[in-house]
Amino acid sequence: MTQTFSVKSSKQTELIDITHPVQEAVQKAGVKEGLCVIFTPHTTAAVTINENADPSVPRDILMELNKIIPFEDRYQHTEGNSSAHIKSSLIGCSRTLFIESGRLLLGTWQGIFFCEFDGPRDRQVYVKVVKG
Ligand code: ZN
Repeated sequence: MTQTFSVKSSKQTELIDITHPVQEAVQKAGVKEGLCVIFTPHTTAAVTINENADPSVPRDILMELNKIIPFEDRYQHTEGNSSAHIKSSLIGCSRTLFIESGRLLLGTWQGIFFCEFDGPRDRQVYVKVVKG
């Protein structure tokens, strides 16, 4: 079974901690040992794992991504959101985590982030829990 939850972004670019809803999906699936696949079906968003203890970390990640891939350039895509598409491809729209004893196997400082690159918008995240 694939579970879905919504994420509402409030800025043009934003990293939103989704560790809790993903862990909830794992618990709901009732799987003690296995894999958890997180996927977002958008071309201008992504999913990443990084430090969620110090909020400066996601802010710095965004600051540098926005510097490396500027909002305005000589892009040919007429929708005007090429930088968001490029960031989405670089970070990637999916992650896979281990489940041990019914919990996501994350490092002490790690959290799962939904990456908004073309907000604000309502977004979807899919979670597939596989026993094994
Ligand atoms: Zn576009």
